[in-house]
Amino acid sequence: METMQIKDKCFAPFIKEERILREVKRVAEEISQDLVAKNPIFLSVLNGSFIFASDLMRNLTIPAEISFVKYASYSGTSSTGKMKELIGLNTDIAGRTVVVIEDIIDTGLTMKYLLEDLQTRNPKEIKICTLLLKPEKLEVDLNISYVAMRIPNDFIIGYGLDYEELGRNCRDIYAVVNER
Ligand code: 5GP
Repeated sequence: METMQIKDKCFAPFIKEERILREVKRVAEEISQDLVAKNPIFLSVLNGSFIFASDLMRNLTIPAEISFVKYASYSGTSSTGKMKELIGLNTDIAGRTVVVIEDIIDTGLTMKYLLEDLQTRNPKEIKICTLLLKPEKLEVDLNISYVAMRIPNDFIIGYGLDYEELGRNCRDIYAVVNER
């Protein structure tokens, strides 16, 4: 495999599709065992998790519903200057076991906002399932139940993840070159 140029950045092969699919299957099997009696609802966080979510769902062996949510950024005043609102959740999750499907957890702040929002809707429990985790970057205390792969701090694309909306369709995962 060769390097790939997207706009101003160069990316090199990092995780091959074969390994990704193996890890996704493993996570799906874990979830199927753990949540067999729980009638879970999966919430896929768009856009980045769409490919992970579809492969994960097809590997689950238990009845599973899925719904798709998205963050809309809006300007407002907060300590960080960034505000995010969750949109698209039309399903009632009260009393349900919810599994959040994310593409990548970096600082964990996005997931923290999401959990706070979901908690206001009175679910029975919330489990986090992420394709990728950057453990060295994690800033908040999160209980992450399912992690397909742990990676260093590199910026990555592929398998649903983008750089400026490009690269999502790459079957393998690529890491940016020379930016560590
Ligand atoms: P956090 O709030 O955990 O710092 O960031 C989570 C979000 O940042 C992810 O859902 C993703 O949109 C974006 N992100 C973090 N790291 C990467 C990366 O290496 N590649 C891409 N494409 N997006 C990333």
